[in-house]
Amino acid sequence: MASSTVYLNGEFLPLDKACVPVLDRGFIFGDGVYEVIPVYAGKAFRLQHHLQRLKNSMQAVRITNPHTDEEWNAIINEVVTRNNDGDQSIYLQITRGVARRDHRFPGDATPTVFVMSNLFDPVPKQQLENGVNAITLDDIRWQYCSIKSIALLPNILLRQQAVEQGAAEAILLRNGEVTEGAASNVFIVKDGIIITPPKTDCLLPGITRDLVVEQAHEHGLAVKEANIKQTELETADEIWLTSSTKEILPVTKLNGQAVGSSKPGTVWQKMYALYQAYKQTLRQSA
Ligand code: PMP
Repeated sequence: MASSTVYLNGEFLPLDKACVPVLDRGFIFGDGVYEVIPVYAGKAFRLQHHLQRLKNSMQAVRITNPHTDEEWNAIINEVVTRNNDGDQSIYLQITRGVARRDHRFPGDATPTVFVMSNLFDPVPKQQLENGVNAITLDDIRWQYCSIKSIALLPNILLRQQAVEQGAAEAILLRNGEVTEGAASNVFIVKDGIIITPPKTDCLLPGITRDLVVEQAHEHGLAVKEANIKQTELETADEIWLTSSTKEILPVTKLNGQAVGSSKPGTVWQKMYALYQAYKQTLRQSA
């Protein structure tokens, strides 16, 4: 397979030629932030929203933004065009840079900027037809989950535990309430009302989550942002997971028990259709 073209610190080069020094604080400490941006038919999805979240993450961890919005746009678009015109997923990472290993911020390090393109793997048809299994786990993460940090060890351990139990995702609970998935946001439907937890530091403000809430409002579906207790999750009519790569995925089994009718629900079908229509508009835009 031909090596894809990536961006690293001002240069476009083949992925297998892109190298970062071992003293990069991303490698040593996980000291960095990232974004994942879907690209449909060569067009970046909700790019301004992703850039805003990136800026929020950088500000929260006090990494100076190395680029203007125009520069970010240009870098991302160049990576997109140099790879292909089809569907991609852009991965963008910024670390605090290379410095002698010391916890405190280095005085003079330049942030490392890395952008790559991956093929966008569509969600398997079987998962859309039948839904996926999820399990609940204790949310063992830190108190700043709204930051899109590259330090993902808790998320990795949680997801792996789910996989080993035959589930696609772990739905996380903190003090008896749902926060989010290991790499997704969570929605439930109860008596026709779509519910998702409000945006706090306990969860990542998902771009997909926001679009689902926005589309529900726009198309007159009942939606509210409210805390979801474990018992409400367990007795929900529908459960969905949202993320840039999973889009809106129905959960039909939770901890081995059927969710609702044990098939993807009718509200999910409506929302999924709205989401696909929204994507289609982007694909056809100039
Ligand atoms: N929460 C977590 C912990 C995630 O890792 C992700 C996916 N990156 C999401 C939520 C969903 O965010 P988005 O819709 O922006 O992909």
